[in-house]
Amino acid sequence: MASSLYVHIPFCKRKCIYCNFYSRIYKESEASDYVDAILLQLSKLTGSFKTVYVGGGTPTALGLPLLKKLVQGLSRVSKDSIEFTFEANPESADRDRMKMLLDHGVNRISIGVQSIKDEKLKDLGRIHDVGKAIASVMDASKIGFDNISIDLIFGLCGEKPEKWKRELEEAVRLPAKHISCYELTYESGTPLFGMLENRAITPLDDDVVAGMYETAIEELALRDFKQYEVSNFAKPGFESQHNMNYWENSVYLGLGASAFSYDGQTRSRNVSDACEYVRLVLAGKNVTDFSERLPPERKAKETAAVKIRTREGIDFNWFKKKTGYDLEDLEKKAIPKLIDLGLIRYIRKGDAVTGINLKRKGFLFCDTVSSSLL
Ligand code: SF4
Repeated sequence: MASSLYVHIPFCKRKCIYCNFYSRIYKESEASDYVDAILLQLSKLTGSFKTVYVGGGTPTALGLPLLKKLVQGLSRVSKDSIEFTFEANPESADRDRMKMLLDHGVNRISIGVQSIKDEKLKDLGRIHDVGKAIASVMDASKIGFDNISIDLIFGLCGEKPEKWKRELEEAVRLPAKHISCYELTYESGTPLFGMLENRAITPLDDDVVAGMYETAIEELALRDFKQYEVSNFAKPGFESQHNMNYWENSVYLGLGASAFSYDGQTRSRNVSDACEYVRLVLAGKNVTDFSERLPPERKAKETAAVKIRTREGIDFNWFKKKTGYDLEDLEKKAIPKLIDLGLIRYIRKGDAVTGINLKRKGFLFCDTVSSSLL
């Protein structure tokens, strides 16, 4: 049994211009068939997962009865979970939905606030405004959610660093215990990417974006939000257990269109089409359209590439136990090079070198570090 379960709900009220997650515009009848297919798959699982995460898309786009049906269907596999998260978006995270989720054992809610500036939300093509975003976080807290996470985006074209700083100052006043800060990326196939190609927008300079990222680290640290991964900050004890499982390259099961699974040997991806997914589940057929069996060395390198993203970095003993490989030996070219570039450092305990982790510059160039380790 995998230690983590991810369920993808691929429906949104509207598609945001920068988004390349698989999702489609919400239609009740499609969503109903889709939830039934997920429930059918859940009925075949045994035991409970350490963490359960329902993401999307927008899980709270589901009508209340459908959302209730889904969370009830998840109750058996989440009954012993230490963390049971639902993603929610402000436009649909109303009190009734959030209360129902809380009453059914959901103990963490991740709200897609994205920004505390109306103009920025509009530029991102988001459907909600700041008033709604703040109200949904306050409501989640009043209803009884203690573990609330919010997402913020930075680095839009024309965005002013001082305005971003003010957003952060406002964000930390909300009753959230976890904040994810993502740099806006221009993903191929999105309307935003098209605007870039047509020169309708000019991206910010890399230096400006890097400065905004550093501002996030500094501002959040002032309010006790400890950076525990490149994009993630939490008050002590509120780090996402589901994501830590991912960064340790541990096994997980993904249900739903476009979801990935990893069983410790093979990584697979489900078809990225909700209707096709339902058809395959009902026909009892394989729902994956891609899978690859990872040789041991590749698995070990992937473990290094994801674990390095965490603030604590990679402990050599942990790595050996996890993968069977000696990290310094496995990465004998990459580690000295990354140290020379000032991106990573050795962790020392007394005279002993016990591991590696990212330096400040390494957090800025984490993708470079990860790909060097692969
Ligand atoms: S709400 Fe989230 S998943 Fe849906 S389109 Fe926007 S960014 Fe993508």
